[in-house]
Amino acid sequence: MKNKIRIFLFVICIAFEIFISCNLVSAQSISPDELKKDIYFLSSDSLNGRQTGSAGEYLAADYVIRKYKSIGLKPMGDNGGFLQSFETNIGIKYSGENYMSVNRAMLKPDSDYYALNFSASGNVTGELQIAQYGIYAPQIEMNDYEKINKEDGTIFLIESSSPDGESPHSKYYPYLDFQSKIQSAIKNGATAVILINTHADAEDPAKIFSKYLTPVSIPVVFVNKSAYEKYFTGKKILIQLSVGLEKISITGHNVIAYKDNGAKTTVVIGAHYDHLGHNEYGGSLHKGEGNGIHNGADDNASGTAGVIALATALSNQKNASNNYLFINFSGEELGLIGSKYFAEHSTVDTSTLNYMINMDMIGRYNSEKGMEIGGIGTSPQFDFLRTMKDDSLKWKLGESGTGPTDFTSFYHINVPVLNFFTGTHEDYHKPTDDADKLNYKKEAEILELELRIIDSLNRKGKLTFTRTKESESTGAPTYKVKLGIIPDYMYEGFGLRVDGVSDGLVAANAGIQKGDIIIKMGDFTISDIHVYMKALGSITKGDTVIIIVKRGEEEKKLSANF
Ligand SMILES: [Zn+2]
Repeated sequence: MKNKIRIFLFVICIAFEIFISCNLVSAQSISPDELKKDIYFLSSDSLNGRQTGSAGEYLAADYVIRKYKSIGLKPMGDNGGFLQSFETNIGIKYSGENYMSVNRAMLKPDSDYYALNFSASGNVTGELQIAQYGIYAPQIEMNDYEKINKEDGTIFLIESSSPDGESPHSKYYPYLDFQSKIQSAIKNGATAVILINTHADAEDPAKIFSKYLTPVSIPVVFVNKSAYEKYFTGKKILIQLSVGLEKISITGHNVIAYKDNGAKTTVVIGAHYDHLGHNEYGGSLHKGEGNGIHNGADDNASGTAGVIALATALSNQKNASNNYLFINFSGEELGLIGSKYFAEHSTVDTSTLNYMINMDMIGRYNSEKGMEIGGIGTSPQFDFLRTMKDDSLKWKLGESGTGPTDFTSFYHINVPVLNFFTGTHEDYHKPTDDADKLNYKKEAEILELELRIIDSLNRKGKLTFTRTKESESTGAPTYKVKLGIIPDYMYEGFGLRVDGVSDGLVAANAGIQKGDIIIKMGDFTISDIHVYMKALGSITKGDTVIIIVKRGEEEKKLSANF
């Protein structure tokens, strides 16, 4: 009898494309108790916060793999296994010889001086040359290298600020970032640069060993004011400098499992399973004593359990018109590294990917706020979601294909995406994001909703991909103008790499393309994203700005009308 009703409902559903209560895949197939078991394990202290590349990451991956094996999924990682490994640089450390002597007096590393994170390793000996502020800007008739004679030595001493400090209103402002100064010094023959700051109103450069940058070609160190005043005396100053730096890399692992239904297209269902560990590499919002274990029950044991639950439900599905690829990403908290690696080194043909469903924090449903379903602007076939309703869940829709989690990596390879998110909360990125605070019943309902959506989409063939506007990220500085690019936040080289270009905006009109590296905007030398943001802040509507990009080996000069 039950079956007859279901067949009848099925016909009605097909005929009228009714999506609610057409729960054909598996009514009440998601068990809140199973979710609870998975999440309690994944967010337990014994996994130490699942930091990328850690033993806790390994234990979590092992748990997920055992689940996939038990439901008969095929491994789709490297070399016939479930894991896909990737390397990422998380900073630098001293390695080898590090010393500095000034007129034969030894300076102490880290207390008297330190290397900057883009310094090359190497050693140099010679006489110090004073290159003032290290500004080379013919446009404003400023050249601090004019009086320098390279025969007298090529180790340059440079003030970190400008003749009138670090004010954004200073005419020197576009020339102040360190990397631009170093590039000018190198062009003028420097073999090493020693930075100092004797201006009371300017800030010392920070020692940032937690971020790896591609090194410039010469050693660059900063000497603090007291050491400078103590040792850098006399007319001739002899320097012996040795800098030894090494990048710190870790290896993270995505877990990838496949359900082959013999279909032409494949749906990706994913969520990251890494979290912040003991805050070894930053990202914690915890204030106060110690670095407790960041258990990440909501972020994102909830999504990880969600992928396992959907895999279990969909592995029993008959006559599906898609194959399913279940991916648990690592490296998300370090900057979407695992998903980006997968998108660039996919273990299936990416042209067969139909759409991607992502879950990041789906465990704290709150009936007042509801949740968010993001990415619906990425395909017209998602339009039915605009009118879809549910008795028990409410949500608001997000159009954008980009946001601070893994679906962005798939949007960038032109795959339609949907993202599920129950919202941020007071325990976000804190050691208190624990399993006892989750709403398991609602998470199960969210997953059942996802199953209904997947079921509806199974009847729509291959979806059409559409571009969306960039997401309005909250908390970012506001600018008077917009260039219309998606910056590559993980790029480690000189310049700003463009990860995507929005249609119809300034960058697209100027001819900027995905993959271009912006190295100059107006007077600003764009050494990194921070200088790019400064440059953007100086532009007003109606300005025409010359932008120089590197495209492969070529440099292109483009004109951007804001
Ligand atoms: Zn997350």
